[in-house]
Amino acid sequence: MPVRAACLGYPRIGIGRELKKALESRWAGKTSAADLQAAAAGLRRRHWSSMKAAGIDHIPGNDFSLYDHMLDMAVAVDAVPARYRSVPDPLSRYFAMARGLQDPATGIDVAALDMTKWFDTNYHYIVPELEAGRPFTLNASKILAELEEARSIGVEIRPVVPGPVTFLMLSKFEPGASENRVPLDSLDALLPVYEKLLGLLAARGVAWIQVDEPCLVLDLDGPAADAYRRALGRLAACKPRPRVLIATYFGSVEHNLPLFAESGCDGVHVDLARAPGQLDGVLRGLPSRTLLSLGVVDGRNVWRTDLDAAHSLIRRALRSHGEDLLLVAPSCSLLHAPIDLASEGGLDPELRSWLAFSAQKIAEVRALADAAQSDAPAGPLFEEARAALSGRRASPRTHDAKVRARTAAVDEAMRRRAEPFERRIAKQKARFGLPLLPTTTIGSFPQTGDIREVRSKRRKGLLSNEEYENFLRGEIRRCVERQESLGLDVLVHGEFERNDMVEYFGEQLEGFAFTENGWVQSYGSRCVKPPVLFGDVSRPRPMTVEWARFAQSLSRRPVKGILTGPVTLLQWSFVRNDQPRSETCLQLALALRDEVADLEAAGISMIQMDEPAIREGLPLRRGDRPEYLRWAVDAFRLATGGVRDETQVHTHMCYSEFGDILDAIVEMDADVLSIESSRSGMRLLSDFRRCRYPNDVGPGIYDIHSPRVPTREEMAALLVLAAGVLPPGRLWVNPDCGLKTRAWPEVEAALANMVDAARQTRPRFGSG
Ligand code: GLN
Ligand code: ZN
Repeated sequence: MPVRAACLGYPRIGIGRELKKALESRWAGKTSAADLQAAAAGLRRRHWSSMKAAGIDHIPGNDFSLYDHMLDMAVAVDAVPARYRSVPDPLSRYFAMARGLQDPATGIDVAALDMTKWFDTNYHYIVPELEAGRPFTLNASKILAELEEARSIGVEIRPVVPGPVTFLMLSKFEPGASENRVPLDSLDALLPVYEKLLGLLAARGVAWIQVDEPCLVLDLDGPAADAYRRALGRLAACKPRPRVLIATYFGSVEHNLPLFAESGCDGVHVDLARAPGQLDGVLRGLPSRTLLSLGVVDGRNVWRTDLDAAHSLIRRALRSHGEDLLLVAPSCSLLHAPIDLASEGGLDPELRSWLAFSAQKIAEVRALADAAQSDAPAGPLFEEARAALSGRRASPRTHDAKVRARTAAVDEAMRRRAEPFERRIAKQKARFGLPLLPTTTIGSFPQTGDIREVRSKRRKGLLSNEEYENFLRGEIRRCVERQESLGLDVLVHGEFERNDMVEYFGEQLEGFAFTENGWVQSYGSRCVKPPVLFGDVSRPRPMTVEWARFAQSLSRRPVKGILTGPVTLLQWSFVRNDQPRSETCLQLALALRDEVADLEAAGISMIQMDEPAIREGLPLRRGDRPEYLRWAVDAFRLATGGVRDETQVHTHMCYSEFGDILDAIVEMDADVLSIESSRSGMRLLSDFRRCRYPNDVGPGIYDIHSPRVPTREEMAALLVLAAGVLPPGRLWVNPDCGLKTRAWPEVEAALANMVDAARQTRPRFGSG
């Protein structure tokens, strides 16, 4: 009997981003709900059929979502907060939870539920919000409808649901609920809903259900471990029920395997791409007759699998586990991978031969399952994989001797500024003569339709270089003038030449490639197309210097030169898997160090290196964190450490809460840190107090995620709050993040208020 192949989830968005288009035209009122449902059904059919054609035995269902799978589960257990319940139509209610609703006709005005990152991926899920005392009720309509829909085209699915413990661990209580309520306390109320669902599926003859419990790879405290004991035991004890596969991913489950092993559940999926080392421990700890799903094909990146390495893992499993008890699968849902390499016309053949997107990963899974019983697997896919692997290893594009020599020569001195902060800041103060509470912005200014149009014309070759550059110079000039008349103390050029803070640099660095259709879902209808960081990174020529020099020539005030930091470039790309991420990050840091040196030589006196993604890279397990923080901080220090004392290094962070890595941020030793904080009501300040943040800081006082113009008074109040925690002499005044998504009128009004707030506050702290 051949080993069976499985898939945990397929990308939802569609190869032509059909789901995005269908959603957005529905939201714009251009199409009907029925149009949207038809588009969605078409995608599901296509995805199921292609998996079936590829020979996948366990095909997922209910992995599709119109917005997000956690939101789907919230609806399935009726965790619908009161404020949405007045929206009568289920689909409108669903989207109200996902994205808020302002309906003048009914007077309904509700904000969206919170959204946050799904583990350490770039996918964002909707955070379910629980109401104290509200019972859960099963609403299985979506799950059952997909079951019928699949059966109507002859596909038998394995329904996928987020498991009860993961669901609760990722939920939160409504604002205002008692402080000491934790969602896991609701487990006993929730489990009957899962039991009922199992019963319904059993009644319909469903063989397997996939219960996703990625939280099983985390460090679990006593109550969480206990919750798992109860939850998995209850699911296993349920009768009648389909067989239950507990899916874990994004790390090793070995340390929590006993929780599964004692439960009586029928199968477990393990992520062997992320954590191949767990296999032996898992095999030892697994009760006999348990199905083991081997996640050997990486679901989170774009590289062709080393099929021989994957094959030998499968062989190891076969030695102690019967073939009928094994599944071969991707490591996690393919949600995090692009869809099909076949739609990439522009990649050069060599690079292309190194890649595998979802459709190719599915084929790899099948080939591995087919080859499981053979000692010496052969066949075209194995041959191609071997050729790709050896080609990749030998290619000068992945091994550039010059880059290697440079990284080998890096030493601690290169990562250290010549003088400590106290000395540097004294020299910088003398150089710049800024007022107390200096005002600045984070870098980008509104990207108007005009600007986007010009960039797109230029991409299509409809505009000469000269025309394009003249246009940008005009934009920069106007932007600098506006900042001067607003009275900002430290200026920026506006970043009009940048489409995206990673792409802009990736396009100019060696080692990066760009796909045409390599989209992955970020949230809802939002997709990103991360660059592919495939080779050794170097910087053939300066990337930002001319624009920075031009901007600085327009003003006597300092104009910051703005760069994206090494960790963020790494974090927002598909990164090569043939060397440690730390090594790739080091190469990025050296390339940026050259850019920093050139900026300084061009007379740029302040250089800001943005690292918004530094918190996202933090490993899920506590024990792995110090090592990551060490190399991430080192990369930043290497990139910025070469400048003179008088050159002021800024950094900027956002999109996360930084309290738990503040000690690492201190070690980055930037002269000035601007950091998102206004939305949390400056919650970060208590962390600053705790770690005695030593350098200059600008906690954001203007929430740029909203079109609302904050008043002078409220920003002044935030400044006073900040000055109660940080010495006023160390404080900067700035928004939370860049302004590129905003419109000029609101930006000008808000910045005018911000500058006023600083002026009004200065005298309180001794200087006008
Ligand atoms: N300098 C960038 C900007 O202002 C920073 C963007 C970010 O933090 N995500 O747009
Ligand atoms: Zn930001």
